Amino acid sequence: MNSFEEIWLDCKNQLLNNIPPSVEKPFRMLDLKSINDDGVLTLSCPSNFYHSLVKEYIPQIENTVSEALNEEIKVNIVVEKPSGSKKTTQETIENKKTLNSSSKEKKPAEKKIKSNLNKKYRLDNFISGDNSAFAYEIAQIISKNPGTSYNPVLIYGGVGLGKTHLLQGIGNYIEEHNSDKTVIYTTAESFTNEFISVISKDINARTNFKKKYRKADVLLIDDIHFFEKKESTQEELFHIFNELYDRESLIVFTCDRPITELKNITDRLKTRFTRGTNVDLKPPEYETRVAIARQKMKNLGVKLSPDIVDFICTNVKTNVRDLEGAITTLGAALKITGKDIKIEDAREYLESWIVPEMLHSNKFTLNEIFSVTANYFNVSLVDMKSSSRKSHISVARQVGIYIAVKIGHFSQTEIGTFLNKDHTSISYTYNKLSSQIEIDESLKKAVKEIQIKLEQN
Ligand code: ADP
Ligand code: MG
Repeated sequence: MNSFEEIWLDCKNQLLNNIPPSVEKPFRMLDLKSINDDGVLTLSCPSNFYHSLVKEYIPQIENTVSEALNEEIKVNIVVEKPSGSKKTTQETIENKKTLNSSSKEKKPAEKKIKSNLNKKYRLDNFISGDNSAFAYEIAQIISKNPGTSYNPVLIYGGVGLGKTHLLQGIGNYIEEHNSDKTVIYTTAESFTNEFISVISKDINARTNFKKKYRKADVLLIDDIHFFEKKESTQEELFHIFNELYDRESLIVFTCDRPITELKNITDRLKTRFTRGTNVDLKPPEYETRVAIARQKMKNLGVKLSPDIVDFICTNVKTNVRDLEGAITTLGAALKITGKDIKIEDAREYLESWIVPEMLHSNKFTLNEIFSVTANYFNVSLVDMKSSSRKSHISVARQVGIYIAVKIGHFSQTEIGTFLNKDHTSISYTYNKLSSQIEIDESLKKAVKEIQIKLEQN
């Protein structure tokens, strides 16, 4: 017979398949504590914040467990903070990986249309900043003149930076404005699997495969790094490429790194990939992250306070998908609890789920940053926190703010609270100093020297 622990794990898995992804994390953190003779099952969760999210689902948990045990069970969830054990980054990353992959598995089938494009990815809802300006411009040009301007085009960049969004945005634009064009979107993985399945079938299947791709006016292939080591698929693609290229069909690829870094791709195919225009997507800057966050909130009908948006955008820097994840979950928490989300809640979520290695909690405190900076400029910490506008105090304060944002990765709200100032004035000072520092060598030197002192502290 199964131990109750096994039964609980089964129930938990069942529940995980039936709850919104936004509460997946707190659900996974639910631990079995005990079950008593009166049929009361006690579970624990690590924080009040998580408790507020999962308690809404107690009836669902009760039903699932009652059914599994064939008796009526009542559920009680208690908050039990983990005993001082902060997860290691590695553990957290691994956790994140499993969660990410499972949420991927459960992702509902995306709305498919004949070309396989997901309608939600559009050029006009792609927010472009300095990080993506060139790629975005090329995407717009080729969408308006498919095949006759830049061709082929390769978009490369790290995970979650908008490659698929841009690629499908191109396809959707062309379909809407040029309905006679045959647009084919596929991932390198699907293309490979499709090819493998036809080679084992009769000759007709293979001919149909070739025909299908060769009739594309627009061929969009996502994640071509997947073609590494797949020699026969590469060979097939090479021939398709040549034919489409000669016919001036538009060909766009995406890759998670520059082509030069791809291994095990035949040279002749590599040359084809790089023949045209290569553009990259870099992680967005703070202002672009805020613009993206605002757009996602609007789309999702989520209203997070400016402080929380600032906090998220300060910490989630390298992956727009994570930025979306943070907004979705905190938005769901807001809806479920009906209470404002506090910075501590947001921190807890981000730390354990999205960017453990980026949060500043382990580097310098605000107190250290402002004390060392005050010392450097011969003023006191009290001066720093005061509203004095004396020029030497102002400069010290401004440099402190710059360092707290840039090096300490503190959000403008946190700095504002520390200095008794509004976060907009922190934002203003930071932007002002960011441009000044470009031209003022003495400021640059001060920041460098203070950073060294902080490191030595
Ligand atoms: P990649 O293919 O590079 O891994 P995706 O295109 O899947 O990344 O993007 C991840 C998520 O982030 C998607 O939901 C996408 O809509 C969103 N996203 C990425 N970049 C932007 C942007 N610049 N503007 C709006 N949404 C974006
Ligand atoms: Mg992608």
